[in-house]
Amino acid sequence: MASSTQTGPSTESSGLGAGIELDELDPAIRPQDDLFRHVNGKWIARTEIPSDKARYGSFYVLAEEAEKAVREIIEESQNAGSGTEARKVGDLYASFLDEARIEARGWTALAPDFEAIAAVDGIPAFVRELGRLERLGSGGFLQAFVDNDPGDPERYLVFLEQGGLGLPDESYYRDEKFAEIRTAYRSHLERMIDMAGLPDPATRAQRVFDLETAIASHHWDNVKTRDSQATYNPMHWAEVEALAGADRGGLLAGWLEALDVPAGSFAEVVVREPSYLEGLAVLLDDAHLDAWKDWLTWQVIRASASYLHAEVVQANFDFYGKTLTGTPELRARWKRGVSVVEGAMGEAVGRIYVERHFSPAAKTAMDELVANLVAAYRQSIQTLEWMTPETRERALDKLSKFTPKIGYPVKWRDYSALTIVPDDLLANVRATTEFEFQRELGKIGKPIDRDEWFMTPQTINAYYNPGFNEIVFPAAILQYPFFDEGRDAAANYGAIGAVIGHEIGHGFDDQGSQYDGDGRLTDWWTAADKQAFEKRTASLIAQYDALEPAQLPGHHVKGDLTIGENIGDLGGLGIAWKAYLLALGGNEPPEVDGLSGAERFFLSWAQAWQVKLRDEEALRLLSIDPHSPNEFRCNQIVRNIDVFYSTFNVSPSDALWLDPEDRVTIW
Ligand SMILES: [Zn+2]
Repeated sequence: MASSTQTGPSTESSGLGAGIELDELDPAIRPQDDLFRHVNGKWIARTEIPSDKARYGSFYVLAEEAEKAVREIIEESQNAGSGTEARKVGDLYASFLDEARIEARGWTALAPDFEAIAAVDGIPAFVRELGRLERLGSGGFLQAFVDNDPGDPERYLVFLEQGGLGLPDESYYRDEKFAEIRTAYRSHLERMIDMAGLPDPATRAQRVFDLETAIASHHWDNVKTRDSQATYNPMHWAEVEALAGADRGGLLAGWLEALDVPAGSFAEVVVREPSYLEGLAVLLDDAHLDAWKDWLTWQVIRASASYLHAEVVQANFDFYGKTLTGTPELRARWKRGVSVVEGAMGEAVGRIYVERHFSPAAKTAMDELVANLVAAYRQSIQTLEWMTPETRERALDKLSKFTPKIGYPVKWRDYSALTIVPDDLLANVRATTEFEFQRELGKIGKPIDRDEWFMTPQTINAYYNPGFNEIVFPAAILQYPFFDEGRDAAANYGAIGAVIGHEIGHGFDDQGSQYDGDGRLTDWWTAADKQAFEKRTASLIAQYDALEPAQLPGHHVKGDLTIGENIGDLGGLGIAWKAYLLALGGNEPPEVDGLSGAERFFLSWAQAWQVKLRDEEALRLLSIDPHSPNEFRCNQIVRNIDVFYSTFNVSPSDALWLDPEDRVTIW
């Protein structure tokens, strides 16, 4: 992390420094023209992205710090008493580091699976084998997960989602801009199948590629899969079977039987993309049997590639790291080992992480920030000129029901049913998959566990969960440049305050606003208010559609894919400013380090978005990431906020100027 700015005692009222890297500001780039590069330009120019990373910046610098802290915890765990949770953490890590054993074992670990797939003699046998291997962690043509039911948020349901692709999403199989990646993927398939010692790699690779292309043609695109209404299709299992073709009956039943799910857990499910299931069923015929068998072999290879011998790990990285994200070098083995442990037993590590790295004072400060953000949203909703009293009342009701979670869970995950051995990585990975599978499906029929966290405390991120109507801030994000107890408030409101506002804003974005305060998918809007809201979101979509990242000339932001995040950012920053004023309790913001409160607020906002990306990664994210590129998360948002104009005396000749009638305010 860049040095945490404790700039000595100020003569101003707060007695705290601004908490912004003032030496980094580039006087050659005016904030009125490009706030993002005024703050981050010098850093971007001199920074080289580490060779094992696709992107680097504020989030990633903190992630590196957390990674070191976690490594320490994991290494200590290797000496913990046998049978303890800590020892499982240590043993899992040890099994990853045991390269000699992994090399000696080579592909033999997967040989029984390859043989079982080769013996498949028809589609019914294929779906059974698929179910069996999915339980061990291989990818399937449908992904199952458990969440609370948007129609009845007090119960859990299984959700079935489209799957089956080895490229990031369906657009990679059709869009002209990915033609080279498709060619590289086809070669990668052949290379891996060949490496696994299977005959006829070229034919098999082509069959897998063609089948995935056919699967992709039935996928919904990443805009449609954001649609809360269209993806909410609760069905009884018989209806799911009927959707997959009644005359081909029993196909999915065989898959389900092999998955060996708890009785009744799939009695009712939500099918997110029904037409995908229909299209998939048509592909499940004898004409495609060889292709499906090759595809399943590929699923086994792909799921295990990171845990096999060095040659396979490198080949896997060559495509998924180098080609797709432009990253030149594989991460050091210890870093990959840390990731494996984090993925499998993240809360066991997090429990110790927060004891060492999270101060109760940060929690107290966050409680106050969150309270001010909620109060500012309340104030803002009460005075929105475009909303009628009827909808306003319901919006306020939803706001009153937000649950904030700060730092770490009150109740930690129980790993006692997980068996880990020190000398068999693949067995551990499969045991972990099995454990997670049981844990997830075990929720069906039980009361909702509102204490569950969907991120570990050592994650540098935050989230909003519409089904729980909760905003969640892991301990690790509560650090500089987002948050610093020792600096003046303006910089905290411009960074972590805006992050809090962003997460609350998701409760009122184009999708979140379709859920009420209890997490129910229900229309609480009057038609006129909905129309007024949609008019504003349409303007924001149009603004972002017009944006071209400096790094990718000719490529545009997808306004409809990013609208939810952009609404979150816009409300987040606008409301954070109001919350800062509330925190001042009617007093004028003090001047600190020669900067006004508003200047510090916006500079801190820009500083939080500091990032540098490789070109391949920038293109990948522009295609599939619902977040806009950071330069626009910074610059496009401030263009819509009046106080930015008054703070920096922005005039019509400045690059960031927007005519007042073109500025969008939603919340
Ligand atoms: Zn977000």
